Amino acid sequence: MMRRDKRDGQPQKTLAAVGRRGFVRAALGGTVAGVCGAAQAVMPGSQAGPRAYRETLSTPVVERHRVVVAGGGPSGVIAAVAAVRSGADTLLIERYAFLGGNGVAGLMTCYNGFRNQRAPEALQTVKGIPAEYIAELVRLGGVADIDNYERQFHHDVAKGDIPYTVGFDPEAAKVAQLNILKREGVKLRLHSWVAAPMLDGNRVTGVIVESKSGRQAIAADIVVDCTGDGDVAAGAGAPFMGPDESGKTDRMQMTLMYRLGGLPSSVQGPFEGIRIKDRVTRWGPTANGNALDVNVLTKAEIDTRLKLWDLVQEMRKQPGMESLYLLQSPTGIGVRETRRILGEYVVTTEDAIKGRRFPDAIAISSNPMPGYHGKRYFFAHEGFDIPYRALVPKKIDGLVLSGRCISCEQGPFQSARSMVPAMAIGHASGCAAALAAKDGVQPRQVNVKALRALLVRQKAEIRL
Ligand SMILES: Cc1cc2nc3c(=O)[nH]c(=O)nc-3n(C[C@H](O)[C@H](O)[C@H](O)COP(=O)(O)OP(=O)(O)OC[C@H]3O[C@@H](n4cnc5c(N)ncnc54)[C@H](O)[C@@H]3O)c2cc1C
Repeated sequence: MMRRDKRDGQPQKTLAAVGRRGFVRAALGGTVAGVCGAAQAVMPGSQAGPRAYRETLSTPVVERHRVVVAGGGPSGVIAAVAAVRSGADTLLIERYAFLGGNGVAGLMTCYNGFRNQRAPEALQTVKGIPAEYIAELVRLGGVADIDNYERQFHHDVAKGDIPYTVGFDPEAAKVAQLNILKREGVKLRLHSWVAAPMLDGNRVTGVIVESKSGRQAIAADIVVDCTGDGDVAAGAGAPFMGPDESGKTDRMQMTLMYRLGGLPSSVQGPFEGIRIKDRVTRWGPTANGNALDVNVLTKAEIDTRLKLWDLVQEMRKQPGMESLYLLQSPTGIGVRETRRILGEYVVTTEDAIKGRRFPDAIAISSNPMPGYHGKRYFFAHEGFDIPYRALVPKKIDGLVLSGRCISCEQGPFQSARSMVPAMAIGHASGCAAALAAKDGVQPRQVNVKALRALLVRQKAEIRL
């Protein structure tokens, strides 16, 4: 359907004529007016103008802390608790209005990796503060009834014997995380995007945040990068690895998780997801590309969300499934893989497969590598060590890496990026940041013996 635009006389397509594909292109080209369905023509922006806009900024320093943790996902929440418990005044900064990272915002409601999924799995490889967090989830009744992860052994999470995976209710997770932070005395700042690091040469001295309060600086002795994407490290100029750089491996896909409600009582089992009564979380449409590119992300959100709606409507047409409905879509599409920051040591795929042990081990990852040569690879050992050096970025001071951006090849990344190893790494990064701040040293100078002893006192499992 065409109509003439009165302003320039050029034929313009209405939204109906543009169709979904055209709409995606239009949105990426800046004509997002079509989002609301208004069939109006939008003038393209002028191509003329300066190539860069020069800003002069003077940013007020509004707070100072011993430790600042950037990003309130599984790794960041545990890191902040660990830093306070280790004696450091700590601020946790999160861009969203709630905590939980991809587990909650991305609706990935299954904490994987408390032990190997298959034998040998006797050792619970993640304990300490992550296990305390699970106990809080249990106390709130926030553990799922059933999930679709194959298991060979029975463990009872309610008794503190944590199995390979713990399915959870994302609303309970939000509350459980607030509870453990509050109990520990962590300071929290929500609705704040960490836009850049504060830098003194190659030393990170705090972070710049953007929020409704404007652009502000928050000074810190040590910053822990728990943004998942390694935003602080990359902003400080830390070199990083990723599938694009190596050119050898495919980037792991993005996936739009979703929750269905109204599952009929006739349906038994997990319904290919993580189930709580008549609600189930499932894996939805996928997208490819570099999630550090906002246009790629925008297209991924549009494509997968439109597909998801149709998918659910199709499900509802199945006999007996009329009661199903789309209960919830995530705040943002789930991003599996972006930057892995280059650290003092790069954990290799061989380290992971052989289950190599390190004298500076600060966590263990036993989670399988889900896409190793296209298959779910289960370790023949109880888990590989993560050395402290993988948390220390090369060249950059004042910064500890944590969560899925630590220094490793893609094999160990596939394993350790899961939320439970990410929490264990968070436990170590929080302790390391607190020790560095207390001793007035850089993270690369932290006394690793003291760090490991501290982790053991806080009941972390490092296989001493
Ligand atoms: C589709 C999918 C399926 C998965 N399946 C599983 C599974 O079954 N089980 C499992 O355990 N793991 C799974 N994972 C992996 C897991 O969810 C992530 O790797 C894990 O959450 C990483 O933890 P993190 O704390 O490092 O980062 P995230 O969970 O990404 O947390 C980062 C936090 O930092 C915040 N943040 C980011 N940038 C900024 C910024 N600049 N300023 C302020 N805040 C910021 C984010 O909002 C977020 O809260 C899956 C991942 C995906 C995408």
